[in-house]
Amino acid sequence: MTDEKPTSPTEVSPAASTATKPAAKPARKSAAKKPAKPKRKAPSVDNPGKVLKRSRYSRLESHQIFQRFHADNPVPEGELDYTNAYTLLVAVLLSAQATDVGVNRATKKLFLLADTPQKMVALGEDAVREHVRTIGLYKTKAKNVILMSEMLIRDHGGEVPPVREELEKLPGVGRKTANVVLNIFFGQPTIAVDTHLFRLGNRIGIAPGKTPLEVEKAMERAIPTEYSLHAHHWLILHGRYICKARKPECKRCVIYDLCRSLEREELDAIPEIAERVAGWVAEGKTRADL
Ligand code: SF4
Repeated sequence: MTDEKPTSPTEVSPAASTATKPAAKPARKSAAKKPAKPKRKAPSVDNPGKVLKRSRYSRLESHQIFQRFHADNPVPEGELDYTNAYTLLVAVLLSAQATDVGVNRATKKLFLLADTPQKMVALGEDAVREHVRTIGLYKTKAKNVILMSEMLIRDHGGEVPPVREELEKLPGVGRKTANVVLNIFFGQPTIAVDTHLFRLGNRIGIAPGKTPLEVEKAMERAIPTEYSLHAHHWLILHGRYICKARKPECKRCVIYDLCRSLEREELDAIPEIAERVAGWVAEGKTRADL
């Protein structure tokens, strides 16, 4: 609403009545090209983008997706080197914002010297820092390795507890690290949502969520029980090597024909790898049977 009086058609100002200016020409259409649409950014923890309310897939379709991953790689493995639960815990702690290759390079000598909390504490923070100085955030991580080792000795007799709540109390250990250790070493069907799982959950729309915890919970709902032990590894490997952040390699994707991502590349035909793995599923075979 406005208090202004409407101007009557007869209330024309003198200036306006004597105006001799020609009517303004209609604005010419700009010859400039329309600006290109900004490229869709891969979903990330910092930028989840528009988040779906629920999975884009039915239970059957989710099942088919994991059947493909299983047929292609029946026993997927992580890429961090370790010798026991403790060295795995240290390696995962060090791997935040670092590559597995970089962590393995740094821990090769470190684990020869210290593969238990007692040996790590004896080695000392300065020496640990020197071993891991090629890894991002190495000062904080070296400090946490020592604090975490001291707590393991004090509260758990030097053993790694197979319980998430206990693991999360350790310095430098968050939910993701705890889930990796529980999954890889203790064989629990946990889903550790790292950058790859977060992106995949949202990009292909199998487990949408605004936060890692939301994606983790959505993954737990979407992943069929029989595939839940290895799902974490399949998804990490898929995100790391195929459905990459910048440009997914759809031509090499075993779930191409099942994928409902808006970023899926339109190909003339289903990639040969997807056809082949679908054939193995139909025959009840896996790559290991070949
Ligand atoms: S088809 Fe492309 S977008 Fe879909 S999961 Fe495979 S690589 Fe990712």
